[in-house]
Amino acid sequence: MEKKFYEPRTVSIGGNGNVERILIGGKEPVTIQTMWKEGIIGVKDDPVRLEAIRNKIAQLKMLGCDIIRFAVPDMESAESFIEICKATSMPLVADIHFDYRLALKCLEGPVAAIRINPGNIGARDRVEAVVNACRDKGAAIRIGVNSGSLPHDLRELVESGKMSRAVALSETAARECAVFDELNFDQFVVSMKASSVQETIDANEDFASKYNIPLHVGVTEAGPLITGVVKSTLAFSHLLKEGIGSTIRVSLSSSPENEVITGLEILRECGKRSGGVTLVSCPRCGRMGFDVHGFMDRWQNKLLSMKKDITVAVMGCVVNGPGEGKHADIGIAGANGKAIIFKKGEIVRTVDEKDADNVFEEELNSL
Ligand code: SF4
Repeated sequence: MEKKFYEPRTVSIGGNGNVERILIGGKEPVTIQTMWKEGIIGVKDDPVRLEAIRNKIAQLKMLGCDIIRFAVPDMESAESFIEICKATSMPLVADIHFDYRLALKCLEGPVAAIRINPGNIGARDRVEAVVNACRDKGAAIRIGVNSGSLPHDLRELVESGKMSRAVALSETAARECAVFDELNFDQFVVSMKASSVQETIDANEDFASKYNIPLHVGVTEAGPLITGVVKSTLAFSHLLKEGIGSTIRVSLSSSPENEVITGLEILRECGKRSGGVTLVSCPRCGRMGFDVHGFMDRWQNKLLSMKKDITVAVMGCVVNGPGEGKHADIGIAGANGKAIIFKKGEIVRTVDEKDADNVFEEELNSL
């Protein structure tokens, strides 16, 4: 029997101060998130660090990132987080655990959303205080649940084999949503995090078959680059093709740039994003006359950040380079210490390899 899932309602994030407003859910494009990977204590009083963070956020935006989450584990971080929110137009999310007062502090600035796990925030009046403050400030909430925060009764059902962990995650999230419904607050999304691909799929399918609440999809602690990319691709592509997932975060033991690039490529391959730069590159072999890997290391992020709808081919040799890359708008290949630049399969420049980057850039800019 074909599974049926609700189209999620729309949730607004951002829009305070100079922060961009983004809609999540409905028929809106699936957004890409990443998480800041460094501590931010002291940033408030350090203009150089603040500027560096602002610049890196701008670079992540150019790559395709829509939203960034910051861990806010203490009051000093909360104060710095507010300054970071003021310094950028990117919607930023404060990730809060245990202490609801940190959420209230962050809400003194133009924070776009608060991520809480109500299960570890404590008594209902604390959750209510955060919800009311978010309502007052026009901020959204992401309810995050994971298998470590299952309520006692659901944990027992899972341990006795009467309920799957995936359904228990979905039921836990549903209980938290019911509290938000009672508080008459609907500007929230839900995430249910499991580190197994199948559990992630099952939990999100179960929830989406019952509720029209936007889902933030992610495989948690997915592992290092290759492992994490494989797990995230499997889980996301399955769910996205079913229309599940309004916002995604690829979780990697790697850079935020790699998380964003992976998310973008998954969305493109699933038909959820179009346009931008498509990269074609050869794996390299004994015929290579050009260091494809080194060139891609230098150029990948720069190319993916360009606002052009083009295909770029980077090939190791002329034997196959222009031929295999003939559909590319621009390409580069190696030939015995020389580099050739080609456009639509036609060679337009031949230069010494040492000049390859500069000439490639010239030709790229002329497109
Ligand atoms: S393009 Fe040339 S170097 Fe690259 S894999 Fe093909 S044959 Fe090898």
